[in-house]
Amino acid sequence: MAALTTYFQQTIAQGSLPCLHRAVFFPISRWLAVGVILLGTLAPALANPPLLFPEKTARIALDPGHGGRDTGAQGPTGLLEKDVCLELARKLALRFETLYQVTLTRSDDYQVEIKQRAAIANQADADLLISLHTGASFVHSARGISIYYHTAASRSISSNDMPRSGESDDRQQWEQTQNRHQSASLALATVIKKYLDQDPDAPRCSIHGAPLAVLEGADMPAVLIEIGHITHPATEAKLADPQSRERLAEQIYYGVQAFLSERIRSHGQ
Ligand SMILES: [Zn+2]
Repeated sequence: MAALTTYFQQTIAQGSLPCLHRAVFFPISRWLAVGVILLGTLAPALANPPLLFPEKTARIALDPGHGGRDTGAQGPTGLLEKDVCLELARKLALRFETLYQVTLTRSDDYQVEIKQRAAIANQADADLLISLHTGASFVHSARGISIYYHTAASRSISSNDMPRSGESDDRQQWEQTQNRHQSASLALATVIKKYLDQDPDAPRCSIHGAPLAVLEGADMPAVLIEIGHITHPATEAKLADPQSRERLAEQIYYGVQAFLSERIRSHGQ
């Protein structure tokens, strides 16, 4: 396109259009050239969707559960939770990277401590965190997608829990970090559910609040998605299927897009 535009600009400048009726052809060709130039200008805008964050690129943190010796749950034929989560995170990263900055808490098959995962997201100044897991159950008929957001653990205070100077201040601060984002995390869960529920073949997904060590220290809206019970034979087959994973990635991606768009509309950020 650029080469064609240059050609028309040069030929107009040189008056060298191959036409015997220059008086007629010249204005027409000039309009044609203007059209080509305009198309050249518009082409990139048409090819890419508009940026949601014109001044600031949003940052997405993706947390593939488990890794390394921590394999997570295992399906009836041996599919491992850690592998499914990493594959899905990679697919999501490819989609998100077109618009946002993406941080993976692990990018390969190695172990990352639970608290380290939220710390990585905080360090990256992420705008939201999505932790990916599969469900598992001793009841093999259990299936369906669950989305969790963090709620503070209600625990009775014993003398052992009484704050001690120094260490307990930091610990308490860490444990309460995600509480500030609880309503936004629930909103994120709700909008992702809306897109996951668009799959007519899948059971409707559910949302739960629970104390989650992996999310408690995250200083941004955060959810944990259990993308189906890997222990259910049909679900295991689905999670092993690249097309099904792609569909899952697409639904989560659209959910996040909708969440970020809504935040921009309501908060202007
Ligand atoms: Zn897990």
